[in-house]
Amino acid sequence: MSGPAGLPPLREVIARHGLGARKSLGQHFLLDLNLTGRIARAAPGIDRGSVIEVGPGPGGLTRALLAEGAAQVVAVEKDSRCLEALAELAAAYPGRLEVVEGDALEIDLAELGTAPRQIVSNLPYNISTALLVRWLIALAADPKAFSAMTLMFQKEVAGRLVAAPRSRDYGRLSVLTQWLCRARALFDIPPRAFTPPPKVTSTVVSIVPREEPLAPASLESLEKVTAAAFGQRRKMLRQSLKSLGNPAPWFEATGIAPTARAEELSVEDFCALADCIAGG
Ligand code: SAM
Repeated sequence: MSGPAGLPPLREVIARHGLGARKSLGQHFLLDLNLTGRIARAAPGIDRGSVIEVGPGPGGLTRALLAEGAAQVVAVEKDSRCLEALAELAAAYPGRLEVVEGDALEIDLAELGTAPRQIVSNLPYNISTALLVRWLIALAADPKAFSAMTLMFQKEVAGRLVAAPRSRDYGRLSVLTQWLCRARALFDIPPRAFTPPPKVTSTVVSIVPREEPLAPASLESLEKVTAAAFGQRRKMLRQSLKSLGNPAPWFEATGIAPTARAEELSVEDFCALADCIAGG
């Protein structure tokens, strides 16, 4: 079957360009056009500004984004073997696909393309949380850096992003993500949909930045307090926060019980503690 715009099937592209998957680059290719189309349609308003795609690989999701009407896709790929295949795709969609060879852990995505910028990616799992934290740091500095992020994670990581207090998965990543964004798990994709199949199920997550953070706090102190609290998540806060100073006045100022444990605190509670700690 031919793909959109009469392009050759992805399996043929992979074979012709010798794109055997490399584990070190987290390569699991999604070749099912129904699924790539579903991810592209989950990204809001792609007809404006730029979609920044991290790790296009042979270009399956890239094709779907273009076919679904993305005004411009800027695709950042570390594996130079993929560049020729992506150049063919760029030629099929003149002026709408820019390919950047490079490492998404080093490139400032907020400088690529034009605003509003959104990120869409079937992320390389080995660096998915490092990438997300990097983009959250950019959003803490500028809530308009990205208008949306539609990202595929391992199901277990997706669970941590959307977890509510008092659940097993609630932790640092939940607090940092939900402080700045609204995060929602959209749908799962089974291992068999990928070539080669990963060991685990994947989940597509919608992460939409809030206009303003949920509560005032500095990223630095929020990182410190969540690291201390969740670093010893079974301990009461009066014990786990000791590494940051004498916590007694912070409990008094916030009304948070010294006997509470990290997982019982809301995102707003963590912000209140972070604010006290930053205030000295
Ligand atoms: N988008 C393709 C798809 O859905 O079939 C490929 C997804 S695959 C899970 C992850 C992609 O990210 C691979 O193409 C890999 O080469 C690329 N990648 C890995 N590390 C990267 C990095 N640091 N910067 C940019 N791309 C990277």
